[in-house]
Amino acid sequence: MSSEHRLEPIPGIVVFEHSVVQGKNAIVFGTSDVLAIDACMFPSEASAMVAIAKARDRRVDYLAITHGHPDHVFGSGQFDGVEVIAHSKHDDIVRNSVSAHASRTDQDPAELYASLAHPSVLLQRSLIIDLGDRPVELFHTPGHTPDSICAFLPDDGVLITSDTVVTAIVPAISDGDSLQLETSLRSLANRNAAVLVPGHGPVVLGTESVRNTILWSADYLQAVRVRVADCGTEGGNDVTSAVPYQDFVGNRFDADTHNMQRRHNMVVEKIASEIAAR
Ligand SMILES: [Zn+2]
Repeated sequence: MSSEHRLEPIPGIVVFEHSVVQGKNAIVFGTSDVLAIDACMFPSEASAMVAIAKARDRRVDYLAITHGHPDHVFGSGQFDGVEVIAHSKHDDIVRNSVSAHASRTDQDPAELYASLAHPSVLLQRSLIIDLGDRPVELFHTPGHTPDSICAFLPDDGVLITSDTVVTAIVPAISDGDSLQLETSLRSLANRNAAVLVPGHGPVVLGTESVRNTILWSADYLQAVRVRVADCGTEGGNDVTSAVPYQDFVGNRFDADTHNMQRRHNMVVEKIASEIAAR
């Protein structure tokens, strides 16, 4: 794997780029232990993460899996003998991902599930891992999925959010909850991080830029929710036309890249269904 797949915004914090929608994982080196954050979709990419530690004469001690979506979990079997950390609701989401993926690809779901590394440490709200000189806080940020967690490195001012914050696409909430996600985003903005490693999209540098990036997603969700609520739950299929891409996303993302128009419509439809269910 060539060097353009990784960058190191702060020494010992390696951002690993994977192939799914500008995906970003991380490897955090402390004086005593090494933490990998997320496992990629493909085993070949996961083993490239393991190799980064090996190239520094280290091994990965901990693997934190931020949520149960395939592109964060399916490579986990490549991390041998690690302590796997995830949220207590993680297994439900993984089982959904496995059965959906297995039926799409004609794989045996039991075999696919057995090929994964499963958590040995479960967190409810938060926990702190000490990597030696480098504490890492892992904490629950529901919204993208019920089991989503983020990592914050207080001494470095680095926030590693996985899909709770994405910078290449509009927020994704297909099996999550938009209000929970908005709440999680606003609390992340208050961390005053200097470096943001998102789940998908470019890394963001600078406290002000990080804060603005996170708040854009929160404000977008809020604005969509207000408009959808205004047009009532009778809108049916018309609800997406009441929330035009140009007014809510505008030039922030190219509508033709990563199916962005479709992603925006999915957010609108999800929020409409949440409002109808309340
Ligand atoms: Zn996800």
